Amino acid sequence: MIIKPKVRGFICTNAHPQGCAAHVREQIDFIKAKGPIAGGPKNVLVIGCSTGYGLASRITAAFGSQAKTVGVAFEKAPTDRKTGSAGYYNTAAFHAAAEAEGLFAASVNGDAFSDEIKDKTLALVKQHLGKVDLVVYSLASPRRTDPKTGIMHSSVLKPIGEGYTAKNLNTDTLKISDITVEPANEEEIANTVKVMGGEDWELWIDALQQADLLADNCRTVAYTYLGEKLTWPIYGHATIGKAKEDLDRASRAINERLAAKQGQANVSVLKALVTQSSSAIPIMPLYISLVYKVMKEEGTHEGCIEQLYRLFTEGLYTDQPRLDDSNRLRMDNLELTPETQAKIEALWPQVTEENLFDITDYKGYNDDFLKLFGFGLKGVDYDAETDPMVPAPFVD
Ligand code: NAD
Repeated sequence: MIIKPKVRGFICTNAHPQGCAAHVREQIDFIKAKGPIAGGPKNVLVIGCSTGYGLASRITAAFGSQAKTVGVAFEKAPTDRKTGSAGYYNTAAFHAAAEAEGLFAASVNGDAFSDEIKDKTLALVKQHLGKVDLVVYSLASPRRTDPKTGIMHSSVLKPIGEGYTAKNLNTDTLKISDITVEPANEEEIANTVKVMGGEDWELWIDALQQADLLADNCRTVAYTYLGEKLTWPIYGHATIGKAKEDLDRASRAINERLAAKQGQANVSVLKALVTQSSSAIPIMPLYISLVYKVMKEEGTHEGCIEQLYRLFTEGLYTDQPRLDDSNRLRMDNLELTPETQAKIEALWPQVTEENLFDITDYKGYNDDFLKLFGFGLKGVDYDAETDPMVPAPFVD
């Protein structure tokens, strides 16, 4: 088939296998060019390993530190008539590259919130890694079924307390108009915490600890975004922000449990970037387009892989980690400098449909969005007949 992007709203419903492979290759090349990461991990579990920050974590561990990796993701396999999901192709490309360098990699496809997938993953870890020295928790999901009650909880992206009206870019029509988001009720807040809070991170660590699969001095990290004034009403001070606060609680609880092993848990604050998850958050596409514009002009622009390289070298594996007073590793420092935020805040009210491509870097945003699905990569022939099938990267 000829594979061209099929974009519907903030998602792209197909993906290009060779394009995704080229995107993974770009990230591997970036990490290899940086050279080995001193003191990096050797046996790594990445929960949410197939796209965005989780994929970049896995690539950094494997190609920066020669780590064996086990990954968990929730992805769609291709058929003769329909492409697989980007994360499926990314995982296939990651496996091929790891195998070519003699690096062990195994991946599980399924619901990471379930006991069944935890058991399956732990069995793989036990068989191939022994004990893990790094556990990355990088899930972004709109819903979670609690394994104990069987109840499915759905998260919402809503403000807390009062409604919020703000400028929003419709990425389908490129129209800019105000959107109003009504405040969440208590049940919606609780459900969002249930899905995106720290409970499942704790369950993973408990399961690994009970199976004696955590190495002494092991590290574990979960990702969050804090942002500043412009994004607080929809992120930091909203339902998702409440869920992310719960990660801080979970981090403290995990630290107590890991104390005997000298293990350490941290939340890491990463910068706002286009991923399959962030593109779904109101306001974010416009905000990120401005972040791109300002940070590219400043020479401080970073993608997922640059952020992860810094997390390993300036956060996890250094004697002088950049920690805040809540024990969080801060990799969002460049986005949140007062100068950068002031420039973004000054541009924000000026953006119109007419000047979108001048005042903001919407083009850069959109190019990166398409790259997430393997489109727009150099060296890929998008007019060529392409087989959607690739060797299955996941264990049965
Ligand atoms: P993403 O959508 O690119 O990745 C999500 C990953 O989770 C994928 O590998 C997907 O397969 C996996 N996944 C989702 N549901 C699953 C399930 N039920 N079982 C197994 N796997 C599942 O998202 P991302 O933006 O990389 O987000 C990862 C983390 O980083 C999130 O916690 C997010 O809040 C955080 N973060 C994102 C940004 C940003 O701007 N994108 C900034 C800071 C922090």
